[in-house]
Parts: sequence; C-alpha cells; structure tokens
Amino acid sequence: MARQALEVLRDVFGFESFRGEQAEIIAHVIEGGDALVLMPTGGGKSLCYQIPALCRPGTAVVVSPLIALMQDQVEALRQAGIRAGALNSSIGYGEALAIERDLEAGDLDLIYVAPERLLTDSFQGLLGRTRIALFAIDEAHCVSQWGHDFRPEYRRLTVLHERFPQVPRLALTATADGPTRRDILRHLELADGAVFVAGFDRPNIRYRVQPKANPRAQLEAFLADGHGGESGIVYCMTRAKVEEIAQRLSERGVPALPYHAGLDKAVRTRHQERFIKEDGLVMVATIAFGMGIDKPDVRFVAHLDLPKSLEAYYQETGRAGRDGLPSEAWMTYGLEDVVKLRQLLEASAAPDGQKRIERQKLAALLGYCETVRCRRQVLLEYFGETLPEPCGNCDTCLEPAASFDGTEAARKALSCVYRTGQIFGAQHVIDVLLGGDTEKVRKFRHDALSTYGIGGEFSRAEWRSIFRQLVSLGLLAVDIEGHGGLRLGPEARPVLRGERRIELRRDPVRGRPAAAKGRRPVLFEDARDETLFQALRARRLQFAKAQEVPPYVIFHDSTLAAMARARPRRLQELAGISGVGQAKLDRYGEDFLAVIAEHGAE
Ligand code: ADP
Ligand code: ZN
Repeated sequence: MARQALEVLRDVFGFESFRGEQAEIIAHVIEGGDALVLMPTGGGKSLCYQIPALCRPGTAVVVSPLIALMQDQVEALRQAGIRAGALNSSIGYGEALAIERDLEAGDLDLIYVAPERLLTDSFQGLLGRTRIALFAIDEAHCVSQWGHDFRPEYRRLTVLHERFPQVPRLALTATADGPTRRDILRHLELADGAVFVAGFDRPNIRYRVQPKANPRAQLEAFLADGHGGESGIVYCMTRAKVEEIAQRLSERGVPALPYHAGLDKAVRTRHQERFIKEDGLVMVATIAFGMGIDKPDVRFVAHLDLPKSLEAYYQETGRAGRDGLPSEAWMTYGLEDVVKLRQLLEASAAPDGQKRIERQKLAALLGYCETVRCRRQVLLEYFGETLPEPCGNCDTCLEPAASFDGTEAARKALSCVYRTGQIFGAQHVIDVLLGGDTEKVRKFRHDALSTYGIGGEFSRAEWRSIFRQLVSLGLLAVDIEGHGGLRLGPEARPVLRGERRIELRRDPVRGRPAAAKGRRPVLFEDARDETLFQALRARRLQFAKAQEVPPYVIFHDSTLAAMARARPRRLQELAGISGVGQAKLDRYGEDFLAVIAEHGAE
C-alpha cells in the first residue's frame, strides 16, 4: 500500500516537516495531478517528486539535462535506502543493461534519464513495459528559447503525455520570469496543471558589494574574514585572470583550482570532481563553471568582475548555501567594469530592439550595485516580488550607505568632460578637476580651462566613485573603440542646465577594514561545538572517500552542525536530528555517536 507522504519524509529523509508548499505539491502529484513548480535553488524541489515516487506504485521517471549530476543524485538517494538508477551517455553498456532490467522488473523507485535517451525508440519501448509512477521534468526552462539553456529535445517531451495520459507530470525550474513560464506551460502542454510559485528570496545568503580599490587584496581580506576552510566559487571575466587568481590564492595557502573553457576537458572534469568531493576548495572560474553544480555546502560566491545581468548574478550567487546555512555573495566592481560593459553593449551588432533590452538590463545591474537601499529588496523587486521590510542581512542594511546631493559634483564632472573635448578617459579628466600638473595637462593646455582645479573638495578616489556613478546612470557615455574615452550621455543636458538633481552614493572610505557586524554570522556560539563539528566532518570524509562519493550525500553540513549542538548519546536521539533517516541511522549511526562520545566529556 502507498505510504503516507509525511511518514516517508520522516523515516526515509529524516526531516521533521515539509517546507513551503511541498506538502500541497506532493499531495497533488500523489493524487495524479500535473503541476509546474517554480522554486528558487535550494528551495527543496527534489522532494516534490521523490516522495510521490515512493508513495505511488511504479517507477518515477526523472528527465534531466544535467548528466554530470545524475550519478551524485542517484548516490544520495541510495544512501537514503532508495532504489535509484540513471541512464545517460556516460553510463557503460553493462551497467545500463542492468538498470534497464531493474526498471522492467519493477525494482526501481526512481530512474534519472537524459532527454535524448528518453526519446529513443528503445527507451520508449521499455516505458511501454514499465509501470510508471510519474514523470518529473527537471530544469523545465530548457524548453524555452528565452533562456540560455534551450534544449530542442525538451520540446518533444509532449510525447510522454500523448502516450501516457494517465501518468502525472511535474515540471520543475528555478527560472521564473513570465515568458519562460508561459513557454513551459505551452510547450510541455501543462496548461491544465496547477502552478506552484515559491518566493524567490534566499534569506540565508548575505549580499555584499564593494567598490573596487585593490581587488586582489580585497578578495583575500574577504576570504580571511571567516571563510577559511570553506568551499566557494570566485568568478572572473577572463581565463587569464582565472589562472592568475587561482595561482595567487594557492601561493597564499588557500586551496584553489582554476576552471574555464580553455582548459582540457579532462582537467575541467577533474577539478569539478575535486570541488564536489573535497571539503574547503575554492574554485576560481569563468561563468563556464557552475551550471548543474548542486553541491549544497558552497559557502560563498565572489565576483571579481561584474556578471552579465541581474539574472546571471542571481543564478551565480544562488549556487551558495543550498543547504540553507549562512552563506555570502560578495562582489567588487569599479569604473573600469562599468566602462567595459557599456562598451561591449554599444559595440555589439545586435538589432536595436535587443540592444534596448540589454541596455535596460545593464541599467538594472548597475542600479543594484549603486543602490543605498536594501540590496535584497532591489533584487527581489527586479524579479517582481516585494519584500516589505529591509532584510537586515545585506551590506546596506548592516552598514547603511550614505548618499549626498551630487548635483554640483556632477555638473563639474560633466562640464570638464565637455571642455576637454569628450575624448579623454576618467583618469585625465580627474587630473584636470584636481588641478594636476601632468604631461597630458601641459600638452593639451588643459590648465587653461575654466574647469581646471575646480574639484578640490573631493579626493581622487571620491571622483572615481562619482565618475563610475555618472557612467552607471548614463550621464556619461563611453567610446566604443576601447580607449575608455568619455562623452556626454543623452541624459546630461538637464543636469548641466541645473534642471535635474542627482543623488549619489557615498562609498565607504577605501581600505577601511570590514566592520565587525559585516562579518558572516557564526554557526556555533560555543567553540567546542565547532571542534566537534570539524571532527564529524572528518569522519564523514573518511566514509565518502571509502565509497568514492561526495561527502554531502552521506550527511549535509546542516545535519552535522545539528549533531554537534545537540550531542545525542543514543541512536534514538540521533534519529531525531534533521537529515538522519532510517537507512543512514543503520549505516552510520554508531560511528557518529562514537565521535560525539569522544568529545562529549569536557
Ligand atoms: P532544489 O532542487 O530546489 O535546488 P533541493 O531539492 O536540492 O533544492 O533541496 C535543497 C536542500 O533542502 C537539500 O539539502 C534538501 O535535503 C533540503 N530540504 C528539502 N526539503 C526539506 C524539508 N522539508 N526539511 C528539511 N530539509 C529539506
Ligand atoms: Zn538588506
């Protein structure tokens, strides 16, 4: 007989209660309904099909394009005592045959399959001889041409419901903008299904954005500020920079690996494997890295260069903290980033309509960087949600940034750009404003201009911040040849004429050490719990190595942290810890209790 969903949640997964709308979604699918589930990364989508898979008779078929992930997902399920298998091009013939046999014999609770494989005649034939519990279509946004992950095969998945109209289908994604959502409903023919939308907030991620002064030193300070020994990702724009930063970190004792599309496939795979299987590695990467990484204990994501858009930023930073523990998204950006992105945009050969959209996207990204408001509010508003109160867990909430009336400063800067001929970069224009005596100033006789030396009330760093914001706001435009020359933007006139007031952000003083309250919240109040936690992680790593599986499929950090705090002494108490199901209790319980007992006596 079908087991109750809550019973499965507790016995098999070891969790106490459902999160958000999980209970409704799971009940809906168990009863045979179709649904689309939109939930942020880490929201708990997997249980939405895994529990119905165990409650409905037959095997659940999970379609996923992320082949590299399947084996880890299957391993995580097996650790929990669930019968799971995967079929894709990376699986050997013999093993594939065995899995197919299990499937036909009804010996699998779940099977993960790549869309190409699912659509083959032979697999379709196999499905015809199988009792199917449900179809789960993961990463459902792949059906949409709007996204960057379009997979033509996803469009053909409608065959599932033509052939098996009685089998419930569940589409899942973390990408939720309107056009993508409509595409999913249309192309998967899910219009009659229910739609479940969870909020997109990731409250455990702390957002911080710092103006660039000395990015390498800033990154090191960030890593030293409570991130020692943690897994994280550092994103850079270019391959050369990835290599350089990875090497620099390694030399300074931070275990770091490079990852970019220029590396051999074998090297990339090896680095990715190590990142997933080892504790405390830092991956320095271009955006080529991350798609399909569902390592739950990534503790930080750092951006040394600006991402392409707020969508990209949200997706990249979303790789932090899937396990719900405190995590950080940290970014530096400066005038040169803003100039570079503007140049790329204007120089692109895209049609006007698309350029207009890209301009809006860039403006939104820069607006996020320059805001003096709660960053989470700005971010969520962009995705169409409202957070009624400031979050208290971003840099502007923790250390409010001041703003000032920048109208006069803007007028001085703009008119100095105008008078120097609209061909020079910020560096030289600032020299003129500050009354500098440089070769260029002398050569072009810029000491004779009316704007020469009129900017003494601000330091060079402050002027750079002002110029950065003027470019961000579109008051200054950038030449597209790549020299970084500035000219007046279309919005500049009203400011010069004194018709528009400008509010600017006062950047924190350069080089000031991060304020204590800017630090990441600690996991443990008692240092002895931290010691025990590390001992539990070491034990977990031994088990993981012996089985050649990622540590997190054995227990998540959050589960080990709960053990360290609660210090259970008996199996029965251990079973009460979130994330300890029956299979893991049987398999690992005594060993972890032994580690706790060693640390128990103070
Ligand atoms: P998603 O696929 O939406 O990114 P996952 O399904 O991987 O997220 O779940 C994220 C994390 O939350 C996992 O570590 C999972 O075990 C945990 N989780 C999910 N649902 C619950 C729950 N009801 N109680 C406790 N932990 C949960
Ligand atoms: Zn905030």
